[in-house]
Amino acid sequence: MAKIRVGVNGFGTIGKRVATAVALQDDMELIGVTKTRPNFEARTAVSKGYGLYVPAENVQAFKDAGIAVSGTIDDLLGKVDIMVDCTPGTLGEFYREKYKAAGVKAIFQGGEDHALTGISFNSTANYSESWGAQLSRVVSCNTTGLLRTLNPLDRKFKIKNAFVTIVRRAADPGDIKNGPINGLEPSVKLPTHHGPDVQSIMPWLNINTMAVKASTTLMHLHTVVVQLASETTTEEVLEVFRNAPRVRMVSSKDGIKCTANIMELARELGRDRSDMYEIIVWEDGVKVVGNTLYYYQAVHQESDVIPENIDCIRSMCKLEQDAAASQAKTNKAMGISQ
Ligand code: NAD
Repeated sequence: MAKIRVGVNGFGTIGKRVATAVALQDDMELIGVTKTRPNFEARTAVSKGYGLYVPAENVQAFKDAGIAVSGTIDDLLGKVDIMVDCTPGTLGEFYREKYKAAGVKAIFQGGEDHALTGISFNSTANYSESWGAQLSRVVSCNTTGLLRTLNPLDRKFKIKNAFVTIVRRAADPGDIKNGPINGLEPSVKLPTHHGPDVQSIMPWLNINTMAVKASTTLMHLHTVVVQLASETTTEEVLEVFRNAPRVRMVSSKDGIKCTANIMELARELGRDRSDMYEIIVWEDGVKVVGNTLYYYQAVHQESDVIPENIDCIRSMCKLEQDAAASQAKTNKAMGISQ
């Protein structure tokens, strides 16, 4: 079977990781990536052997900077079956129309609204809803994290209500524009958008979210309180988490006490860019009292959505019908153990 030809629009935090992950899959071919400016990331793309496509009006600037380009963004659209759009979350409508005109399927990211595509994607919760679709949207890093644990819990126990506080990283590590660099900033528009975003995939779920920006770049941390439909035990919940796709259990007794320790573990795992694709749950921070469940989880914002994008390509391009089979294939290629 011919490989699916993939392009990545926007070679930033998410786009560069999606490009690497696509290049690792044996049923996909990375045709090229796009850059708007001739900077070090454009040089990195070329040095990795990726085709580099740029806006027509900027071709000369890349030539002047000594960076070889393979063509324009429009040229790339003529060569691919699907584009993974990783541009900042403001260009969705503009690019959606371009992809439609070129007859190319497209995946957008969580910075865009659900309404842009009408379908949102999470591999654990709704893999089959994007089957054969022209457009889909991989939900944000925080929403992905919540779905990875809440969906398996809901399947097993039925959730009556979930209350989540998201302690958000203030900026990505390479971002010097955002903050705060010293302070905690509550999101005063309540409830925050995260709950409705989870509901774009689990519309029946009662979920209430608040958020606080914290002076860190490493990871987000969620505190989660869930009212289950019936009483259960801590051990039964731990069993659900242990079997949930792309959820990794850690223990503070093992020295993993904070997000810095998780990133240190990720470096030891030796993965690409020291990424942590799984959602981290503290085993000794899970507690059930009656029908109320408490837990903490941590989200590596730069990377948890990357395997989701790969599974979404498989669903939209009808490469693999079974979610678990696609997850297993993606995981094997990316070195994810569960
Ligand atoms: P980013 O700023 O790191 O990268 C965006 C890339 O798009 C940059 O390379 C930029 O040069 C490029 N770009 C800008 N204008 C363009 C244009 N007109 N045409 C083509 N490319 C253009 O952003 P990011 O963090 O990678 O975010 C991308 C998307 O992923 C957003 O929707 C965001 O909400 C979502 N997302 C981000 C994170 C995160 O933590 N960084 C996590 C999950 C999802």
